[in-house]
Amino acid sequence: MLTNDQLSKWDRENFFHPSTHLAQHARGETPSRVIKTAHGVHITDRDGTELLDAFAGLYCVNVGYGRQEIAEAIADQARELAYYHAYVGHGTEASITLAKMVLDRAPDHMSKVYFGLSGSDANETNIKLIWYYNNILGRPEKKKIISRWRGYHGSGLMTGSLTGLEAFQKKFDLPLDRVIHTEAPYYYRREDLEMSEEAFVAECVAKLEALIEREGADTIAAFIGEPVLGTGGIVPPPAGYWEAIQNVLNKHDILLVADEVVTGFGRLGSMFGSEHYGMKPDLITIAKGLTSAYAPLSGSIVSDKMWKVLEQGTDENGPIGHGWTYSAHPIGAAAGVANLKLLDELNLIENASSVGAYFRAGMRDALGEHVNVGEIRGEGMLCAVEFVKDRDSRTFFDPEDKVGYALAAALLNEGVIGRAMPQGDILGFAPPFCLTKEEADKVIGATATAVMSVL
Ligand code: PLP
Repeated sequence: MLTNDQLSKWDRENFFHPSTHLAQHARGETPSRVIKTAHGVHITDRDGTELLDAFAGLYCVNVGYGRQEIAEAIADQARELAYYHAYVGHGTEASITLAKMVLDRAPDHMSKVYFGLSGSDANETNIKLIWYYNNILGRPEKKKIISRWRGYHGSGLMTGSLTGLEAFQKKFDLPLDRVIHTEAPYYYRREDLEMSEEAFVAECVAKLEALIEREGADTIAAFIGEPVLGTGGIVPPPAGYWEAIQNVLNKHDILLVADEVVTGFGRLGSMFGSEHYGMKPDLITIAKGLTSAYAPLSGSIVSDKMWKVLEQGTDENGPIGHGWTYSAHPIGAAAGVANLKLLDELNLIENASSVGAYFRAGMRDALGEHVNVGEIRGEGMLCAVEFVKDRDSRTFFDPEDKVGYALAAALLNEGVIGRAMPQGDILGFAPPFCLTKEEADKVIGATATAVMSVL
């Protein structure tokens, strides 16, 4: 058997890791942790160290690790038919069944689902469909996409441009010219601390209206947003936000893309964030929770309104020139079918809602009064603890201190994985939906210990 030292050496010599400080990793200054097994909410590395994964990988292993039902569905599919493409009307039992299951769960006005492989490629598909749609409707000028500061929509060319986080754009020369950004609904970080939530929403709307006015509604095709900002800090919207935004978009004939890569299939305690907040999207992006990451699969769910125009487009222009070799891959689709069945059978979305609320309440009891805790927020099985130097003025810590990273490292010492969110000193939690109250207590206790040791 390979030794850990051997693996670590090969890792540093050969493996280009995503979202990693490449130089530090190559020099051996960052850990090279090799994960071996996982079960429920726990992962275990090759040394036998067990960690409670309170971020479900990258908020994706929603049904928990080690589900044999999904593993068997994948194995059966691989044995029977590992691959066939989905071009020119081909399908498999798994891909057709999954499409039906997705549409049965999606809001009523949605019509079809296109399957890709990642959240990033699903959003790339969405943008192409939006541009195609407006070309078919004879509106070639209506092409710009509005996204929000702090939004995360992937790290492809277009999706990296939509992402409103500097770390994902710096030095990449992304083609930002068709992308415009607007205010994030981040009430805690409002400039005027006296401002009510209602007034803050009105301000977000006014800024959006001003942007549309400045750019011209006839140049703007769509608005993309996560129902709850995820990577940008786990920020649920203030009350009434989505309703108010939807009204502005309707008025200017601007499409809405709900990026539900994190929120889709139960993370907020509802099947979709769109229904949770009363959004009426024209496209819904799905990925992570579709298969709970047992296999890579994503999707773009298309509304009736857009679908009619796409059909018209192919009548006029021939088959749609868009597709990947692995679109609707049978193994991903089989994983998706088994995963969605498990979500239902084990009532995991209800658990996400009830244990998620218990988890946040416990976190508030443990840390809500701490001098450096600014806000504890979340929705469903999502929780963020935002740390500040001073509670009253909400002053940030010096970025050089990397307080968020120090806290995540201290938490790891306690045997729990949380995520230092890439923007600000925020610890994020997004455990698998099967988290029990006892496990939630363990995460809360470990977080409190980590905070006491760092701050
Ligand atoms: N959209 C959102 C909201 C995400 O959180 C992510 C990834 O975290 C993506 C898109 C990109 O998904 P992927 O990493 O699968 O490309």
